[in-house]
This record gives sequence, C-alpha cells and structure tokens, in this order.
Amino acid sequence: MAQAILTIDLGAIARNWRALAGLSGAAEAGAVVKADCYGLGAARVAPALAAAGARRFFVAEASEGVAIRQALGTGPEIYVFAGHMAGDAEIIAGADLIPLLNSPEQVARHRAALPGRPFGIQFDTGMNRLGIEEADWRALSSDIVAEGPRLLMSHLACADDPGHATNAAQLAAFRRMSDGLGLPRSLAATGGILLGAEYHFDITRPGIGLYGGAPFDNAEAVVRLSLPVIQIRNIPAGETVGYGNSWTAPAPSRIATLGAGYADGLIRAMTGKARVWHGTTPCPVAGRVSMDSMGVDITHLPDTPDTLDILCPAQGVDALATMAGTIGYEILTALGNRYRRDYTGGPV
Ligand SMILES: *Cc1c(COP(=O)(O)O)cnc(C)c1O
Repeated sequence: MAQAILTIDLGAIARNWRALAGLSGAAEAGAVVKADCYGLGAARVAPALAAAGARRFFVAEASEGVAIRQALGTGPEIYVFAGHMAGDAEIIAGADLIPLLNSPEQVARHRAALPGRPFGIQFDTGMNRLGIEEADWRALSSDIVAEGPRLLMSHLACADDPGHATNAAQLAAFRRMSDGLGLPRSLAATGGILLGAEYHFDITRPGIGLYGGAPFDNAEAVVRLSLPVIQIRNIPAGETVGYGNSWTAPAPSRIATLGAGYADGLIRAMTGKARVWHGTTPCPVAGRVSMDSMGVDITHLPDTPDTLDILCPAQGVDALATMAGTIGYEILTALGNRYRRDYTGGPV
C-alpha cells in the first residue's frame, strides 16, 4: 500500500490527560481540542478525553466547537477562545458553546444577540493577543460579574520558560483583575500547569501535553507515522538525488523513495536535517523533500524495509521539530489529510 499510516494512541492521550490532571492538583483539568485536536482527529480524540474524565473543552473558534459538540453530545462545556464574533450567534446557541469574550465590543454583541446565554471573559494580562484590557475591565466588571460569567481566564506568553519574569508579572495582573470576585478562574495551559500550584486556579487548559509534546517532558508518545517505501535504487558515487541536485552520493548508495512530502506536513525545511527510522536505526533524508515524496539513504541497512518511520519511539514530535527548526505544535497540526489514520488504545 502506498498510503502513509498515522497511528494515534488514544490510550496514551487518556493517560497524558490523567497525568496532567494529577499535576493540576486541586484544579480541574479541561482539555484543549482546537485545530481538530492538534491535527489528530477530534471525532475520535475528543470522546477519548471525555471518557478519561475531561468535562470542559476549549476550541479556537466557534465552528470548531460545532464539531466537538457533535463528537461529545450534550453535557460537556465547550469554550471558544475567539469569543463571540459577528455572525456566530446562531452556532453558539445551536451547539451550546460558551464564548470567552475578548473586548467591550464582544460583551455588547453577546448581550444583544444572546442575552442570558452563558459566557466567560478572557483577560489580556500582557501577551497582547486576545482578551479584555485591564482598564476596560475596571469599567465593565461590576455589570459583567453580576451576570455570572462561567469562567475568567487569561493565557501566559512564556510558560514554557519557568524562569521567565513575564510569568510572575502575568500572574500578578491576572490576580489584580480577578481576586475576590468568587468566580471560576483559569490561567494555565500545559506550561502553566508545570509552573506550580499558584498558577492552577480552578481549571487548567492542557493542550500539547495531551498529544505528547513539550514542555510536558513526561508525556507518553501518542503518534507513529510510517511512510511507505515506493521504490529503491542503487546509485554510483557522484550521482545526485532530488530537486536541485542538493545531495550527492559520496559512495555507491542505496536510496529509498518514501511516499510522503511537504503536502503531508513533512516540511521542506526537513531537507538535509531529518532522519527516518528502521526500528532503532536512523536513515538520513537524502535530497530535498518534495511535495509527495522524499529520498532517504538506506545504504547501511541490512534488509529492505517496506516502511520507514518518521515519528516513532526513537524520534518524537519535538525531536523532528527541532531538526526542522520548528516546534512540536507545528509538526502535529501540519500533518496532512492524505494519511490513513489508525486509532489504537481505545475505548479508554
Ligand atoms: C492553545 C491554547 C491552550 C493550550 O496550550 P498548550 O500549550 O497546547 O497546552 C490554552 N489556552 C489558550 C488560550 C490557547 O490558545
């Protein structure tokens, strides 16, 4: 078969959620399921997280929430980071979503379009990405608090760096804006959970750690990506491989052409840097990664494999990301839709 296979371990995702819930201490762990569960497939992954115990889910924008509601059915809360955007009222109400309102304009829009329907508030505490500014909150807070927001939240810009001074500054700002109000609060994503109890508040929002990525170093690996060998050829020293002739055989070489490329999220920046694996033996990428294929040097392998793995126990998402000059989040969310997705380890 020429199709590459992405195997997703739902049991590992469930165990990662439980581990992060444990690390969240007294706080309740939610689950961030935006971007189709970081590219791994919300229809299967979101129910596995619910079965593990998650009750509050977070998406980036409202239409994603519709897919999560379909996957989960009624019951779990689904929060929307982008808040209440113009034109979203129908799907917010229809899918029973909770927008995290980001500005005075969104507060006004929500009150006008969906009076009495649940909402939360997102604060900007220094990241300058999403959220109500402190001065605007001062002006609006007494009215909003009286309406009973479900959650007050903010997001840390530097949580993957525990020593960064911005963490404490954002924590202080979040407390200034939310202390004494008696409302549920959330500040920590995966990195924030690892910063310790003062960052946990009532609800944590792990994302990448559920899917096996840094900074949750104790995460269990979730994905394996096996690429089919389409063709193998022996070339003499001095011949080149791939577009632009960027790789030249230093000696007589055996080259395998694998059936996945940058259209599948195996980005061109992996050229000359990434490795694929035959069990515990690495094989370097030879030549430029193309749209649908890439060459690898298998001269040193004793046998002729049918597949080689680019994500596996020997090389996780962060290791591959580092080779390509990016982060595990980007490797996962870029994984294309040509893979056959096999789910193991469920139901959990
Ligand atoms: C993506 C996101 C998260 C999850 O972050 P991870 O680093 O993946 O754990 C939490 N909160 C907000 C606001 C986000 O945008």
